[in-house]
Order: sequence, then C-alpha cells, then structure tokens
Amino acid sequence: MVSVRPAARELDRCPHCRRRCPGYDLGDGRRRWRALDVATTFAYLEADAPRVSCKRHGVVVAAVPWARHDSAFTRQFEDQVAWLTVQASKTAVSQLMRIAWRTVGWICERVSDEAVQARDLFAGLKRIGVDEISIRKGQRYLTVVVDHDTGRLVWAGPGRDRKTVEKFLDLLGKDRCHQLKLVSCDMASWITGPIAERCPNANVCYDPFHLIKLSTDALDEIRREVWNDARRQGQAQLAKELKDARFALWKNPGNLTERQQLKLARVQQLNQRLYRAYLLSQQLREIYRVPFEEAIALLDAWITWARRCRLAPFVKLARTITDQRAGIEAAIQNGLSNARVEQVNTQLRLITRRAFGFHSPHAAIALAMLALGGLCPPLTGR
Ligand SMILES: [Zn+2]
Repeated sequence: MVSVRPAARELDRCPHCRRRCPGYDLGDGRRRWRALDVATTFAYLEADAPRVSCKRHGVVVAAVPWARHDSAFTRQFEDQVAWLTVQASKTAVSQLMRIAWRTVGWICERVSDEAVQARDLFAGLKRIGVDEISIRKGQRYLTVVVDHDTGRLVWAGPGRDRKTVEKFLDLLGKDRCHQLKLVSCDMASWITGPIAERCPNANVCYDPFHLIKLSTDALDEIRREVWNDARRQGQAQLAKELKDARFALWKNPGNLTERQQLKLARVQQLNQRLYRAYLLSQQLREIYRVPFEEAIALLDAWITWARRCRLAPFVKLARTITDQRAGIEAAIQNGLSNARVEQVNTQLRLITRRAFGFHSPHAAIALAMLALGGLCPPLTGR
C-alpha cells in the first residue's frame, strides 16, 4: 500500500472539465486504487478523496492524476487491461490481471470513452459502411459504422432501427453528412431511408457480402429440399452423400480440397437441380471479381438465367436483384471489395462474441472501439 497525494497543480480539479474548483468537503475520506502488481503481490495507492464544487458539474469527487473518474483502478492498470483484452482471451485477461470479466467490461468502457472524447473519429469520412451485428445470441443488436478507406470502426450504437441510424447522423452533423460520398449497407430500409433523406451526395451501395449471403441461403434451401426428398424416398445413401457435400457447396471452387472436389463432382452426377443451384451461386460471386462493364453484362446474364432456372429461391433472388439493381451496380462501380467488407465484419463478430458476458451493450461497444477503432492504448512505459 502506497500513500500518495496529487501535486499542488493537480489539486481540486473537476474530473469532467479539469477546471480548478473550490473545495466542498472531505467526501468519504481515504480511498484505495488497485495498481499494477509488484511482482506477484497486490499493490494499492491510497489517498484522500475530497469533493469539489464545480460550476458546471456540481459537487463531485475531485480528479486524481493517477486514475480515471469513478474507477477503483489506476490509469496504468486500466490501460494494461484494455490492451490485454484486445489481444488475449477472456480467461487470460481475468486470470492474469486477477479481476472478474464483468470488471473488464467497465474498464473497457472508461478507457474507450476517454479515447473517443480526445479524438475526432468522424474527420474526413467519405465512404462508410453501415451494418448490424448481434451481441447476444439472436437477441440484442448493434448498429456499426465502418470507414471503408481506413477499415476502422468509427461508431457503434445499441439497436438496429431507423432511430439508431438517425442518432449516428445527428452526431455526424449536417456538414459531414453532406460530405459522404458512399454508404454501403444491406438492403434494409431502416438504413437506406435516413441516408437518402440526410446525405444527398451519398451513393447507396449494397454490400457484396450481403448479396452473396442471399445466394448462399438460396443454395442452402435447395440443398435441404433435395436432401429431404432423398430421405423421404428412402434413398439413405444419396441423402448421406448430399449432406456430406454441404461444405463443398459453400466454398469457393479454388479453395476446395481434393476430397471436396470429388464430392462436388458426385453432386453433379447425383442431382442436377442442386448442381444448377451451385453454379448459380458461384456465378453471382464472379460479378465482384471482374471489371465494371463485364460485371454488368454478367449480372444481366445471371438474372436471365436465374429467372428461368425453375429453382424457386433463385427466381425470388433474381426478382430482389432486379428491384435493388441500382445499389448493386453502385457497389461494383465504386469498387467496393467484398473481401474488405467481409474481413471487417468477421473481425467485428469475433470481438463482440467475446463481449457476450459483459453487463451492457455499451461495454461491448467499448471493446469493439478499442479493438477496431484504433483506440487501444499502448502498454505503459514501452
Ligand atoms: Zn466541471
């Protein structure tokens, strides 16, 4: 335990605005802050925690230079926890730092809030992606905004509705809304609606990621249908082979193992419907890999093919694509790369999955901002 007190110039400051304020009372007396361990021994700082009376923030516990407001840990301890949480697993953080995972959530919030306030994350935003992501199994959602040029997460808010998108646009401000050139999203009106109203110069593009997912879903529907038919007709062997082939069907042809290639060849032999669905879904990916003019020609050909393919899910997808064509073409024209969008999405999902045990969506947002918004503090003294 180390007894400390702030240097004279740090005394009697409001924790929110850092202004010098008149003293109010002694508060709850002496307080302790957990510091970084000394080897394997717990270490604490102890000091008075008087209250001050700020003109703007009322009666508050005076700021101390070694810790953030309302925290029982020192700044260095919190920075290390935040850094570690970005790098390591849940168990590693809890065990190494000897704190509960819920406490980690609180710490992430404080570190991230401070970093967000110190920076202008919205400066120079031109091309953004808006998406939703679940932070608890199938229940709670976040709306996330990614800068396509830097690949960074710039904002996240709880909820997935029009109000959440409007809240982001409010924070962005009118001038910067007008500066947006490109907004990518899925085909949801809760995103495209407010964007169209408030960002007159922004081109709305549909994320390749979402379109490809729609075609994978359509393929999966056919696979299940064919599999169920086979089972019902008592063709156990066929059903098994089709079931085994599902991973081969989802993958890019270039990434298939030899075994999976054989399975795919078998699907071609066994079931023409399923193989046709496979070709359709692969062909749709191709439009994001070729130059613009070629892509448009491919898209036209795809729609014509899908319309008369006699596979209901793909006929429906062809209709969706025809309706949403402008946004799909805009994505190709603006060179919105699927690899990039998907990569950020995957990282986000990994990060937020670890935040499942946190007390609130705000803690999950804080962790995401630390990890993907470039807000993670460096390790102290290095
Ligand atoms: Zn103040």
